[in-house]
Amino acid sequence: MTAMLNTATRPNWLRPSVIQPLNEHRNALKNGAEVDQDEVGFFLYDLDYLAQHLSTLMQQDVIKLWFAVKANPLSRVITTLAQQGFNFDVASQGELTQVLAQNVQAERILNTGPAKSKQQMKAFLTQGVRTFVVESLNQLQWLNEAATELSCRPQVLLRVQLQWDEGEKNPLGGNEVTAFGLSCQEWQTIKVSDFLALNINGLHIFQWGNMLSNERMFELWSQMVTPLLSLAEQLEMTLEVLDLGGGLGVDYLQTGQSLHWDNIVADLAKIKARAGVSELWLELGRFAVAEMGYYVTSVVDRKENFDQQQLVLSGGINHLIRPAITEQPFPVAMLRESQASESYFDLHGPLCTSLDKLGTLAIANDVGIDDQLIFGLAGAYGFTESMPFFLCHPIAAEYVLQQGKIEQVRAAQPATWYLR
Ligand SMILES: *Cc1c(COP(=O)(O)O)cnc(C)c1O
Repeated sequence: MTAMLNTATRPNWLRPSVIQPLNEHRNALKNGAEVDQDEVGFFLYDLDYLAQHLSTLMQQDVIKLWFAVKANPLSRVITTLAQQGFNFDVASQGELTQVLAQNVQAERILNTGPAKSKQQMKAFLTQGVRTFVVESLNQLQWLNEAATELSCRPQVLLRVQLQWDEGEKNPLGGNEVTAFGLSCQEWQTIKVSDFLALNINGLHIFQWGNMLSNERMFELWSQMVTPLLSLAEQLEMTLEVLDLGGGLGVDYLQTGQSLHWDNIVADLAKIKARAGVSELWLELGRFAVAEMGYYVTSVVDRKENFDQQQLVLSGGINHLIRPAITEQPFPVAMLRESQASESYFDLHGPLCTSLDKLGTLAIANDVGIDDQLIFGLAGAYGFTESMPFFLCHPIAAEYVLQQGKIEQVRAAQPATWYLR
């Protein structure tokens, strides 16, 4: 079905400060040798916007903010977060190396993740990391041994998994049993005083993703306080830190719903007081970086098929897999300005699998071959979450926009870059 919408207007996620540099960049590319590789698809991160956004998030003294590095580990993104005072949550040696390489002090880094071996935790301690979110009884034992061997005393938060009556599923599990942390029942078998090399003074809980309602978030957080406080009491732990993870949502589906940061801060001040903790932590992923990012690719073919309007794009889930695994498309617009009214198009990528679809979205219906499409909210869970190797298309380039200028951080790479 071809639905017709009103005349195209620029969506609000597509900031004017981005369009002009992009058009200049495109013209420069047209005259240069880089054209073939870059036009397949590239990411652009608006670091001016990012710095401004982060500074708003930092203007409060209720929450200590960490950045979940998996959302976007690009060097220049990490540097911008570090400059604005964010700390870093890493879940692998690769992420740790990348954050340290940007001259971030190890004291500003914490380690989460269900797959921490003793060897890995010892290596993290050796590199100066002193804050760990522990997710199993083995991890606790191993970290205690490693800290004893290295004569240090790291700070530890125990990751707790709760169950709610109303079942709900999401990528983090929601109410499903996952590998993230342990139930209160399992944690109750320990006493914090048995781990002399560890300062166990916090609890961590994070089970819900991409929340868009302040009320619903507050409700979930509120329900966590009582079970967490009673767990701390049973473990004879002085609860000083409560870490509520991430999960603050962005409006991928453009429903008009969004979280208000001021409300989050006010709500968390209440949670902090009720829990009686001196520190309340969040590790933000998408809420910190999604809005600053764009993915640009071009139209290779346009056809009509069984009444569906189809666009085949030069980049798809090889660069941006999230729509295929969540059924939530990133919002899209045509880069070129158009007065034509909009129609719905199925947006297919270049991979020979029906999975390679970026959504069915409205675009000005004069869109044609070689037109560029720009996807918004692509600053989180883009480049590193995707499947770039399948079918050997080029790896996406990454650019940053800073002080109004576009700079290339990594060029597009052909498959010969990694094929052996
Ligand atoms: C992924 C992750 C986050 C960030 O999640 P967002 O939904 O992007 O905010 C925070 N904490 C932990 C432990 C994570 O694994």
